[in-house]
Amino acid sequence: MASSSTVDILDAVLGGRRIGEEEALHLFQHADLLDLAAAATATRNRHNDPARVSYVIDRNVNYTDVCNVYCSFCAFYHKPGDPRGYLLSWDQLKQKAEETKAVGGTGFLIQGGVNPDLPWTYYLELVSFLRDLGIWVHGFSPVEIQMMARLSGLGLSGTLQALRDAGLGSIPGGGAEVLVERVRKRIAPLKGGPEKWLEVMEAAHALGMKTTGTMMFGITETLAERVEHFRVLREQQDRALARVNGGGHTAFVAWPFQSGHTVWAGKLDKPTDAEYLRTIAVARIYLDNFPHIQSSWVTMGRKTGQMALHYGCDDMGSLMLEENVVSAAGTCYSVNRDEMHRLISGAGFAFWQRDNIYRPL
Ligand code: SF4
Repeated sequence: MASSSTVDILDAVLGGRRIGEEEALHLFQHADLLDLAAAATATRNRHNDPARVSYVIDRNVNYTDVCNVYCSFCAFYHKPGDPRGYLLSWDQLKQKAEETKAVGGTGFLIQGGVNPDLPWTYYLELVSFLRDLGIWVHGFSPVEIQMMARLSGLGLSGTLQALRDAGLGSIPGGGAEVLVERVRKRIAPLKGGPEKWLEVMEAAHALGMKTTGTMMFGITETLAERVEHFRVLREQQDRALARVNGGGHTAFVAWPFQSGHTVWAGKLDKPTDAEYLRTIAVARIYLDNFPHIQSSWVTMGRKTGQMALHYGCDDMGSLMLEENVVSAAGTCYSVNRDEMHRLISGAGFAFWQRDNIYRPL
């Protein structure tokens, strides 16, 4: 039975009022899951056609797995100098682009490790090479862009501008994990505090670029810290929208930490389906200025991915033609286009294909 304050908060959400951090935490801790689903769906429907769900055909391309940031949760990287580390060749990139276009795909979500052996000019060449192949480049996590800014000497804004001129289309929000100092220090001390992630996105928004906001949760953070993460994202999105220059986060994507093959294996339980759905629903309600929320069926599986469409998500994300990072930790699902259509219709929605910045195709 919902308490009166839970009812009051849910009524406020249904009425379209913005909720505060304490209210979000209260919903996390006390709201009935089905009540959250209804409130999240009402918020979703204020931003999106209630009857339709989108998806994108792209692939996650990791141009290098060499990295000197050594995040404790990462099962993907090899240290500089390790002979197992790789850098994709131009021929391999071209082949991946052709395969992607052959199945109706439009873009690459491209991220690497932070590879100290690559010069600044490599990144300009990489994005222009892909752009010239007709691929939308949704590229680079903030920690890579911070490293590029050090190499280029152009500052964050100048670096982003040069990348955009060379062909960078938009920026994925990878590497946010949980935007709370305590958590980031514990799990990825060399990545820097939350401000390192936020300042890259802020510079991109100031240039009118589109980005996504993400969260990897279930890695020692408290519920209050999840809400803190939502708060900094919502404040940043408010600032972006106030600029009215087209920049800002298009979507929020959250997925649970996969601990396989990391130092955390066996020490942390993977969040349950119910916890995932609760997190997504509170995110949808609190992040009232984010147009889209993506279902993470890639980590949660198809059925939970479908259920998330009734907990505030309006997008099924990518077909996942290729994924290397989550699969290195042991969990990754993929589907073909027909299966994606069946997943969306099976959940009761019409499907539509989008590009990496949510334009219909
Ligand atoms: S998560 Fe990214 S930055 Fe961290 S170790 Fe892995 S590849 Fe490097």
